[in-house]
Amino acid sequence: MRRYSVFAIAREAMRQHNGWDRAWASPEPKSHYDVIIVGAGGHGLATAYYLGKNFGIKNVAIIEKGWLGGGNTGRNTTIIRSNYLQDPSAAIYEKARSLYETLSQDLNYNIMFSPRGVMMLAQTESEIRGYRRTEYANTLQGVETRFIGPNEVKRLVPIMNIHGPRYPVLGALWQPRAGTARHDAVAWGYARACSDMGMDVIQNCEVTGIESVGGQVSAVVTTKGTIGTKKLAMVVAGHSGHLANMAGFRLPVESVALQAMVSEPIKPAIDVVVMANTVHGYLSQSDKGEMVIGGGADHFNNYTQRGSWMHIEETTRALVETFPMLSRLKMLRQWGGIVDMTGDRSPIISKTPLGNTFINCGWGTGGFKSIPGSGWAMAELVAKGEPGPLAQAFSLDRFREGRFIDESVAAGVAH
Ligand SMILES: Cc1cc2nc3c(=O)[nH]c(=O)nc-3n(C[C@H](O)[C@H](O)[C@H](O)COP(=O)(O)OP(=O)(O)OC[C@H]3O[C@@H](n4cnc5c(N)ncnc54)[C@H](O)[C@@H]3O)c2cc1C
Repeated sequence: MRRYSVFAIAREAMRQHNGWDRAWASPEPKSHYDVIIVGAGGHGLATAYYLGKNFGIKNVAIIEKGWLGGGNTGRNTTIIRSNYLQDPSAAIYEKARSLYETLSQDLNYNIMFSPRGVMMLAQTESEIRGYRRTEYANTLQGVETRFIGPNEVKRLVPIMNIHGPRYPVLGALWQPRAGTARHDAVAWGYARACSDMGMDVIQNCEVTGIESVGGQVSAVVTTKGTIGTKKLAMVVAGHSGHLANMAGFRLPVESVALQAMVSEPIKPAIDVVVMANTVHGYLSQSDKGEMVIGGGADHFNNYTQRGSWMHIEETTRALVETFPMLSRLKMLRQWGGIVDMTGDRSPIISKTPLGNTFINCGWGTGGFKSIPGSGWAMAELVAKGEPGPLAQAFSLDRFREGRFIDESVAAGVAH
C-alpha cells in the first residue's frame, strides 16, 4: 500500500485525488485461518496488528458484524490517561499511552493524538486523599502525575467555576501527557495496516456460533458461512457474554449503556480534558470546536446503544455548574454504547475454558485509552498461548481466586 506523506498529498492534489488506493480491502472470507478475531473495534484490530508486527502471524481474519469501529470504539469521548492506582493497571495503561505517542508514525495514519493533559477534579476531602494516594502510587510506577491546587486548576481552565454551588474545586490530579485522539482514525489506521499485511478485515459478518472438536475451537459459524480456525480471539466488548455463551462458558461481566453528547461547535475555549467525578460529567473540546461531554452508565443492564434521559439531565446539570458558559450552548447529538463492566472495574485478557480460545473484554467505560497496550498484550497471549507480563494479572482466574484489581473503590473513577 502506498504510504501517506506530504509528497503523496501534493501529487494527488495535481491529479484531482484520483490516485488514492482504498484504505483497506473488503475480501470474502477464506475457508480457514490461523487466527480469527471476532470484533473489529480498536482492541480486535490492535490485537491483529501486533500479531502481525510482533509475531509475524498474518493469516488472520478480523470478523465484524457491523462496520469497523462502529461499536464503542467510534462512540467514546476519546480520553487517554494512565494514572490508575493499581500496579497492573498503571502498567498496561501507561504502555498504551506511550504507544499512542508514536502511533500516527507507526501506522502511517494520523490518529490526531493530542497530549493536552487530563485533569481529574477533587471536590471532596476523600477525593483529595484518594488522588494524593494515586499520585504517590504513580510516582512509584513511573507514571508522570501530580496533584495541583485550585489556583493552578483555574489557571489551566479559566472557564471553570471553582466555587461551584454544590462542591468547590479543592484541587485536581493532573497528568500532563494524557489527552485525546481521533477514535475513528485509531480503528481506520489499524485496519489499513492489517489489510496491508495481508490480513482479512471482514465487515457485515456476524459470528452466530462456535464449533469445537475435543475441547479445542475448530471453526466459527457466521452469516457468511462456517470458517475454520486454529485459534480464536473474542474481542466484542458489550457482547462478550453472548460470545462466551456460544463457546460454552459464562463471564463475570454485565452490559450497560454508557452515553455521551456533543454541543454545537464554538471557538477554542478549553485546551485540556476535565473530569469531574463527584458531580459526574467530563468535558473536552474537539478539533472541530464541539464540546465533547461524557455522562454516566445506566444503572440497569441493557443493549440499547441509546442511554437514558436521566443521565442527560444529570450530566448537563454537572457540566453547567462547573462551566456556567455551557448553559448557553445547544446540544447537537447524543448517543450510547454498550460497555462491559466487571466487578473490580478491571479488564479480562485471558485464556478461556475452550482450548485455543482467548478473550479480551471488561474494559467497561475506559477502554479507548488502552487500545494499543491491550492489543499488544492480547497478541502475545494469542501467539504464545500464555499471558505475558502485561496480561498476567488480568486472567479470568482472579474472580475465582479473589485476586481482584480493584479500580472501582480504589480509584473511584470511570473512563
Ligand atoms: C459513550 C462512551 C464514552 C466512552 N469514553 C471513553 C473515554 O473517554 N476513554 C476511554 O478510554 N474509553 C471510553 N469508553 C470506553 C471505550 O469506548 C471502550 O472500552 C472501547 O472502545 C472498547 O473497544 P472494543 O474494541 O473492545 O469494543 P468495540 O469497539 O465495541 O468493538 C467490538 C466489536 O465487536 C462487534 N461484535 C459484537 N458481537 C459480534 C458478533 N457476534 N460477530 C461479529 N462482531 C461482533 C461489534 O459490532 C463491535 O464493533 C467510552 C465508551 C462509551 C460508550
